[in-house]
Amino acid sequence: MKKFEKSTKLDGVSYDVRGPVLEEAERMQEEGVSILKLNTGNPATFGFEAPNEIVRDLIMNVRESEGYSDSKGVFSARKAIEQYCQLKNFPNVTINDIYTGNGVSELITMCMQGLLNNGDEVLVPMPDYPLWTASVSLAGGKPVHYICDEEAEWYPDIEDIKRKVTSQTKAIVIINPNNPTGALYPKELLEEIVEIARQHDLIIYSDEIYDRLVMDGLQHIPIATLAPDRFVVTLNGLSKSHRVAGFRVGWMVLSGDKSKVKGYIEGLNMLSSMRLCSNVLSQQIIQTALGGHQSVDKLLLPGGRVYEQREFIYNAINDIPGLSAVKPKAAFYIFPKIDAKRFNIVDDEQFVLDFLHEHKILLVHGGGFNWNQPDHFRIVYLPKLEDLKMTAEKMREFLSTYKQK
Ligand code: PLP
Repeated sequence: MKKFEKSTKLDGVSYDVRGPVLEEAERMQEEGVSILKLNTGNPATFGFEAPNEIVRDLIMNVRESEGYSDSKGVFSARKAIEQYCQLKNFPNVTINDIYTGNGVSELITMCMQGLLNNGDEVLVPMPDYPLWTASVSLAGGKPVHYICDEEAEWYPDIEDIKRKVTSQTKAIVIINPNNPTGALYPKELLEEIVEIARQHDLIIYSDEIYDRLVMDGLQHIPIATLAPDRFVVTLNGLSKSHRVAGFRVGWMVLSGDKSKVKGYIEGLNMLSSMRLCSNVLSQQIIQTALGGHQSVDKLLLPGGRVYEQREFIYNAINDIPGLSAVKPKAAFYIFPKIDAKRFNIVDDEQFVLDFLHEHKILLVHGGGFNWNQPDHFRIVYLPKLEDLKMTAEKMREFLSTYKQK
């Protein structure tokens, strides 16, 4: 009998945010154990509702959305995205440069599939949102990780990026604001990244899905606005800002100098046509969402739920002996450091499994974000304060006796 193995194309591809640790949590759930899952940034599961206006407009558009749309998306949605880009001063963007997707996720895989030949290198942050690394590998490319420096607010290490550029490097990915670290990049740093792209002729991919989730009065700067002379692909969507991750609404915007990417754009158009179009009904809410109703704002101000939970988790983590964390400025994740020597940790996945078994709380180990030392994990700080308090208490208790064997 023939045995069916997974394709060798999947060798080296992993996505641990929903990987083996989650499988173990689900196995425990099947046995009747109740688990607090802090593994995905899925606002709806933590009691965050989509704005009523969004839901109403979705319902109003059901009839008009029965058919396929243009492959790149519905006109009104793309027009709204174009205007969003105009307000933010994206250079050289017309409606033809805008593609909607079934979430940013679909577009990340699409833009890597369209670009890479076997062995082409892409600079990807470490830690990263692991779909980037996985998508580069799946497309036959080689993810080359550059360090984001915890000692420097988790900013990309410019010298490390420079060291890792080779003649095979085609592109650099940035995630700003960042998952899993919560970092927000300042203008000078972005300018340095643009300069590297200029010198080595790299495409810039900027994942900006958290651009509307910024705290402390800070401003998000889209890197595209600093790079009119480079080809930049910016990805964004509504999963996080409008709490509609299940609706699968994302888009990508091609900006800057397109004189040398005609072939690549042809490839993107073909891949976009092959999936026919993204969910048409979901696209109908983009205009409403971007048209001024930035309902996320009050969650991020002092007194708002996300802000207050960030304050709590940041202080609580830094108060636990053996843990420390940089304060997140945006998004809703914190990426604490564990004193691995003190607890004898050599396997961070085992650490997360041990915590899961003992306290029924699911976290994701740093390795799940391609972090190369066994000394970090990520907390999603969306759950209500009581649950975060419990998590911090359990972690304190757990670490008071933990030693990895
Ligand atoms: N990019 C980043 C940085 C993310 O954190 C996520 C989801 O967590 C995504 C992309 C995927 O988003 P979407 O729901 O639009 O597919």
